Amino acid sequence: MHKIEPKALVDRFGRRVDYLRLSVTDRCDFRCVYCMAEDMRFAPKAEILSLEELATIAEAFVELGVRKIRLTGGEPLIRHNIMSLIERLGSLEALDELVLTTNGSQLQRLASPLRDAGVQRLNISLDSLNPRRFRQLTRIGHLEQVVAGIDAACDAGFERLRLNAVIMRGRNDDEVLDLVDFARSREVDLAFIEEMPLGLIDEHDRALTLATSDWIRERITECYALTPLGDPDGTAGPARLYRMAGSDSRIGFISPHSNNFCHLCNRVRVTVEGRLLLCLGNEHSVDLRDILRSGADAATLRQALVDAMDLKPERHEFNVNDEPQILRFMNATGG
Ligand code: SAM
Ligand code: SF4
Repeated sequence: MHKIEPKALVDRFGRRVDYLRLSVTDRCDFRCVYCMAEDMRFAPKAEILSLEELATIAEAFVELGVRKIRLTGGEPLIRHNIMSLIERLGSLEALDELVLTTNGSQLQRLASPLRDAGVQRLNISLDSLNPRRFRQLTRIGHLEQVVAGIDAACDAGFERLRLNAVIMRGRNDDEVLDLVDFARSREVDLAFIEEMPLGLIDEHDRALTLATSDWIRERITECYALTPLGDPDGTAGPARLYRMAGSDSRIGFISPHSNNFCHLCNRVRVTVEGRLLLCLGNEHSVDLRDILRSGADAATLRQALVDAMDLKPERHEFNVNDEPQILRFMNATGG
């Protein structure tokens, strides 16, 4: 076996992987219509990674040069004892960025502890400002709880907050400008994400509801001119960023359908069942749980991560008119 060089996570296409999206639970206190079926079956406890196993995997990635970890799920903040994992990762010196994606439901309680534990930035999902509609889209959630959570996060002093919105034609497409104005009022960023065909949902027909980034951008420019920004602080990832006159809030568009960003891909995902997914839009994976539970030492785990890079496909193929090729739901994938 050859010796592993530090920063060895490079795939066959020369892309360096330095970003891990780690799913800490597949469970959620919401059931968003584009993410989950109404009646979901979650992984049994024996099949999900313990907090210790999650930390071991995260630390192996950091030793191999990963500099950014995003905790996600499901809803990461409903995992029992999640703060202990976050505190452990927050103290890793080699990790430059620890960030988290949340639906905001627990932020009134946890925004300050997260900041204190070293989480630098949060993405908070918000698809509607109408309480009844918010309820319909999340099937369970309460808008006022999430808005209070966003305000708690604003007060806690995160470096940059970003709201994530999935716009669906005929459902919340009349709220594009309201969401922009809300972001401006809180001085936070706002990213619009095109709905991706992950998991079979019966709630709506994705081919009919897809609101493309171009369509959303046209709605915004009816009110605010948008100036392309590039990626000034290196945090945009696949989002194309714009600024608006008279506001610090930036608008981002994540367009898996209308804009292929795979050539820039620097990330991999680990599901809470320990599956290392090399690409959001493909099934190529490695079972890290098997490796961990077979008693492998840290070096063997690291070697498995290095070897897995050869499986990273060149690009994803999403076609909204086809049946989803990816039968995992977003909550199982780690959004
Ligand atoms: N529960 C957290 C939340 O909602 O922010 C984190 C996990 S969630 C799966 C992460 C992000 O994925 C959310 O912003 C959500 O809107 C987005 N998402 C879920 N399903 C999606 C889909 N089918 N297409 C596009 N985005 C999706
Ligand atoms: Fe839960 Fe997030 Fe999926 Fe909504 S998008 S159901 S909040 S995991």
